[in-house]
Amino acid sequence: MAQPPLSPAKTSAGQGKLGTGPNRRPGGVRGAPKSSPPGRRARMSPPDTSHLSGESREQLRRRVLGLIDDNRVMIFSKSYCPHSARVKELFSSLGVAFNILELDQIDNGATVQEVLAEISNQRTVPNIFVNKVHMGGCDRTLQAHQSGLLQTLLQEESHESTYDYDLIVIGGGSGGLSCAKEAAIWGKKVMVLDFVVPSPQGTFWGLGGTCVNVGCIPKKLMHQAALLGQALQDSRKFGWECNQQVKHNWKTMIEAIQKHIGSLNWHYKSSLREKAVTYVNSYGEFVADHKIKATNKKGQEACFTAANFIIATGERPRYLGIPGDKEYCITSDDLFSLRYCPGKTLVVGASYVALECAGFLAGLGLDVTVMVRSILLRGFDQEMAEKVGSFMEKNGVKFLRKFIPVMIQQLERGSPGKLKVVAKSTEGQETTEDIYNTVLLAIGRESCTRKLGLEKIGVKINERSGKIPVNDVEQTNVPHIYAVGDVLEGKPELTPVAIQAGKLLARRLFAGSLQKCDYINVPTTVFTPLEYGCCGYSEERAVEVYSKKNLEVYHTLFWPLEWTVADRDNNTCYAKIICNRLDNDRVIGFHIFGPNAGEITQGFAAAMKCGLTKQLLDSTIGIHPTCGEVFTSLEISKSSGLDISQKGC
Ligand code: FAD
Ligand code: NAP
Repeated sequence: MAQPPLSPAKTSAGQGKLGTGPNRRPGGVRGAPKSSPPGRRARMSPPDTSHLSGESREQLRRRVLGLIDDNRVMIFSKSYCPHSARVKELFSSLGVAFNILELDQIDNGATVQEVLAEISNQRTVPNIFVNKVHMGGCDRTLQAHQSGLLQTLLQEESHESTYDYDLIVIGGGSGGLSCAKEAAIWGKKVMVLDFVVPSPQGTFWGLGGTCVNVGCIPKKLMHQAALLGQALQDSRKFGWECNQQVKHNWKTMIEAIQKHIGSLNWHYKSSLREKAVTYVNSYGEFVADHKIKATNKKGQEACFTAANFIIATGERPRYLGIPGDKEYCITSDDLFSLRYCPGKTLVVGASYVALECAGFLAGLGLDVTVMVRSILLRGFDQEMAEKVGSFMEKNGVKFLRKFIPVMIQQLERGSPGKLKVVAKSTEGQETTEDIYNTVLLAIGRESCTRKLGLEKIGVKINERSGKIPVNDVEQTNVPHIYAVGDVLEGKPELTPVAIQAGKLLARRLFAGSLQKCDYINVPTTVFTPLEYGCCGYSEERAVEVYSKKNLEVYHTLFWPLEWTVADRDNNTCYAKIICNRLDNDRVIGFHIFGPNAGEITQGFAAAMKCGLTKQLLDSTIGIHPTCGEVFTSLEISKSSGLDISQKGC
């Protein structure tokens, strides 16, 4: 009969490389920690040699000791044992590599169990060793985790690490920086590699990633610039007399916004320095399992090794792949630092970036057209999306629906120049052409994962989207490589999500925390001229999941007090909640279209996390006079069909 294998039958987060770790210490198993609770003495049964299949008891003992010596975390387990499962889950969630030997899946499992009893005084499984120290079983390991003993034992190895860093983070944006800083707080040696590949128009920026440089921050500031223009108009109705001609100066706005961004770039650098995180302004690319090559803008290369890596490289704008797109079009990467006013602008795309940019450009007084391939705001509640669109249309934004560009041709150079755009219908043969000063592509973003050398180290990506699939602890298929932020498959692409995931990941890796990032009910706001905020299900999705008969939708139009004197439309702003009848009328969808929707949605998102129901909303006293108070007095259900229009104040 063939010799039964005595090697880890299965690894989970573990690498399963026996004896190859950098920190193997000589010597055998260390005794059980003194803090171990008593009362678990092993039953020593007489040796059973019948399963040895030729291997002497002594040989088997040496092999078991070898497993304990060679593995940072060694778990002797039984595949069906729930206590063993709990321990595996603990190590997985800590992001710690471990090796398992399932005793019920090897021929001589019973004998191994006896040998383990001789070695450790424990016969039961799971039987766990960490850095050669016998931890005990499930309860003792969980206790050691709670007391911090487990973390101390695990750290013993990393202190002796032969790697340059405990952690290298690739990408200094929202997710990467939060993870790096948190890891440094827990005493880890951390490096951040951040490098911005210039856009096809040659735009580049400093540390901080998309949000700070070419995303949330400049976008919100330009949104504010546009809102101020509206406020100036409203102010006349409130008695302000401005004799000067009111006009907007693009250059002044850009300089002020870029100055603010510059201060944020500086702040990020200095906060890394304060926490002793090494920042290298170089492009990272994996060259081996634990090794990365960093190339700076002069082409100089250096290699660094680390025990763990985080991929937080984010995304960059997509291009159309038609003649003239990369030569003549700009994207959001260029817009926020554009040195000249873009003039008459075509925005291609119909989601967050497109509608937000179109909204503030029109608010600044520009002639703006949005070219929509299919629908507005895919994935969002479509009733709300259409309200966003019609408000923008009423406020001067033109929409060219069901068209896509097929060619961009330069007619005149300049700042801005003149571009001819030829577009074709998505529904027939019809084509159209028009002339614009600027074409802004906002057709989605590509993950920065294809030039990272991931294939060299076996990290799987979704070949179609370039996104990285991870488990619920943001671990890729390669155990020591994690990912956070926009590169993740199936997760919201939002700054606070990346920040939260990065911070919690560092805490799990280095501070013994078990808390995972909760990606459910993430609130968001589309900062169009009138903001749209939401949390939870769209009405369409709620119907798909729960079916219409189990839902009640409450809604109302409302008239912000600030809009009354200003004479703005009393039937534009809209509030809606979707309640699950089967679950105590729990609010599973929250939607608001109105001023400051972002601010309002944030508070209600916290309430939804606490299990908000319609009854709780009804018993909440509103703050008068605000927009948010409408949610405390929602009386009309959609199914009633009653009129929700506002007749007066
Ligand atoms: P990023 O912030 O993109 O950071 C990745 C960094 O890695 C970048 O600096 C990149 O240059 C660098 N990098 C890439 N490859 C490498 C490499 N190989 N080596 C070294 N460095 C590399 N979210 C919101 O929550 N609210 C908003 O209002 C909002 N507005 C937005 C507006 C716009 C126009 C855009 C484009 C996005 C907006 N977002 C908003 C989304 C938000 O910006 C992202 O979700 C967030 O920045 C993602 O963070 P991240 O850490 O995953 O990646
Ligand atoms: P997106 O949500 O992926 O939307 C892409 C848009 O471009 C869609 O309208 C899509 O139309 C259209 N499109 C795609 N390919 C096209 C083509 N070849 N021709 C014409 N149109 C095309 O991308 P995004 O707006 O760039 O946003 C990216 C992410 O950034 C978002 O997921 C969001 O999380 C984040 N973001 C957040 C905020 C915020 O929080 N306020 C703001 C901006 C961005 P179809 O519907 O037909 O596919």
